[in-house]
Amino acid sequence: MRVVVLAGGLGGSRLARALAESIDPAGLTIVGNVGDDVEILGLHVSPDLDTILYTLTGRLDETKGWGRAGETWNALETVAELGGESWFRLGDLDLGVHLVRTEALRRGEPLSAVTDRIARAFGLEPALLPATDERVRTWLATPAGELPFQEWFVARRHRDEVDGVRFEGAEAARPAPGVLEALEAADLIAIAPSNPFVSIGPILAVAGIREALERRTVPAVAVSPLIGGEAVRGPAARMLARLGGGTGPEQVTDRYKGLIDALVIDEADADEAAGIRTIVTRTLMEDAEGRQRVAEAVLESAAALR
Ligand code: GDP
Ligand code: CA
Repeated sequence: MRVVVLAGGLGGSRLARALAESIDPAGLTIVGNVGDDVEILGLHVSPDLDTILYTLTGRLDETKGWGRAGETWNALETVAELGGESWFRLGDLDLGVHLVRTEALRRGEPLSAVTDRIARAFGLEPALLPATDERVRTWLATPAGELPFQEWFVARRHRDEVDGVRFEGAEAARPAPGVLEALEAADLIAIAPSNPFVSIGPILAVAGIREALERRTVPAVAVSPLIGGEAVRGPAARMLARLGGGTGPEQVTDRYKGLIDALVIDEADADEAAGIRTIVTRTLMEDAEGRQRVAEAVLESAAALR
């Protein structure tokens, strides 16, 4: 069974882990968002790729939902003491990854290659690919002006309402090596319950990826990030309300028009219109049972659609 999953950070890594636990992980390819990537203290940080890497190799701080378990903050304390840039939380363990990645990128190694090297070294079994090796950056139009993703999300704690999203560089960006090959070889394409605007949006903004989904010959299934009209974490519901006109399954389906054949939704949203074939289950993936339930719903829906 070959599965490709499009993934952001928290929701992305949860579904990726669920699938990796339910099929032969060697058959899984995870295509990660790089629109959140940011240069901090001269280092290239790829937060969504790292959340996936940490989650699937048992290194994630499960309570925070980002960063490394057992993290310490000595380096950042020194940075703060010296008046350096310390608003973006980089722990000591995490910094090691950013050092290796940044050094490789400066030498000219593509992001996909260094990501693969780090993934193998950490013992990740599925393939983890950035959507693109090229620079794509997410910008948010807000009443306070246009903000780069991490300034909006981390520095301002996504308190600003979002009136529009733009993916700088996406138009010219080509899919990273292996992405189209994986999509073409897949038996099933899954879209994680990641934020449709700022996590899946930048992946689908890479024209080659969107086109590969449009011309797919295999089932594509998305998992809704909503449970009872609310996001499990983060601004997805607020963004769906303001940019999509509501917080039901239908607004999620609207984001993926022509790209999916079914939507996995939570029992709490089962009474709402979805505008597409739905599979209803409990979609919270906070434990092994939850992950298994959602992975099964995705895999079974694909079998039914084939
Ligand atoms: P980020 O990059 O870390 O911000 O994370 P993502 O965009 O990948 O995921 C954030 C979205 O995942 C939020 O909208 C959540 O509602 C959704 N999410 C997180 N965990 C779960 C879960 O266990 N089940 C479902 N259905 N959605 C989840
Ligand atoms: Ca993210």
